Amino acid sequence: MIQLYVPLNFMGFIYREIKQSVTDLEQMFRVLGEDPEIADDPDARPLAVSGGTIRFENVSFAYDPERPILKGVSFEAPAGKTIAIVGPSGAGKSTISRLLYRFYDVGSGRITIDGQDIRRVTQESLRGAIGMVPQDTVLFNDTVRYNVRYGRWDASDAEVEEAARLAQIDGFIRTMPKGYETEVGERGLKLSGGEKQRVAIARTILKAPPILILDEATSALDSATEMEIQDALESVARGRTTLVIAHRLSTVVAADEILVLEAGRVAERGTHAELLEKGGLYASLWNRQREADQARELLARMGEDG
Ligand code: ADP
Ligand code: MG
Repeated sequence: MIQLYVPLNFMGFIYREIKQSVTDLEQMFRVLGEDPEIADDPDARPLAVSGGTIRFENVSFAYDPERPILKGVSFEAPAGKTIAIVGPSGAGKSTISRLLYRFYDVGSGRITIDGQDIRRVTQESLRGAIGMVPQDTVLFNDTVRYNVRYGRWDASDAEVEEAARLAQIDGFIRTMPKGYETEVGERGLKLSGGEKQRVAIARTILKAPPILILDEATSALDSATEMEIQDALESVARGRTTLVIAHRLSTVVAADEILVLEAGRVAERGTHAELLEKGGLYASLWNRQREADQARELLARMGEDG
């Protein structure tokens, strides 16, 4: 049986929390069954992924009809490319990832993958094609090995360990007396936010899906670990269509295209260099972050000097 860290009477709370933060959708679907709001079309077919091209065509969406969240969002993430979405908190970035995973259906417009409207394919095939590294991962009350293998049940032990190595968590696991058989969760080892995130990254490496969504995937990590994980994430993203939502602009510099989302609309789009050149919202976000980073560095250096 699958058990979460939490007693069952908190499931309603957990459901809302998970839904809110797109924490671990697959896990939630497993535990709670399919989302009652979203049903398979009677003629639903399995998604046929050729390259994994994602298109948002004039997508509008509201959780509450009184309050539109996305307002005519259009973009294409061509097969194998990386598209970054940045913008102020509350702009609708995570909503885009929830719609792609079909947690909700669009209000108007459509989302396609390789030309297929995601409302016309089975949810199982859609979610099987997408790997999500969320902001905060919920782990199972089971061994580390089980938690990593969750990415792909038929993976061998060697594959599980290789994925953990790429996610920079294998070394840590091996420092524990029981290694991969260490129990995590309530009565076992409590992992930090960053460690859990690395377990989620290992799962995704194991799953090797054609489409990746990284929603602030390194937000719980300190900057040294973030840099190490960045390499692992870049290697997973290579050759896969990737949507990266990031609060740290440094992680999106290399994206093929950056969308700047502001109040539910794409306010700017282009490469990092083009957007800096433009001197608009992205440029001001970038400069502000750079100043903050420099101030932090300066403070750290002053600290070292005593
Ligand atoms: P971002 O990821 O850019 O910070 P989100 O996509 O999470 O923004 O949220 C966009 C807006 O939608 C926010 O104002 C948020 O409060 C609202 N919102 C998010 N989830 C829900 C929900 N389940 N019900 C109602 N409003 C929501
Ligand atoms: Mg978000």
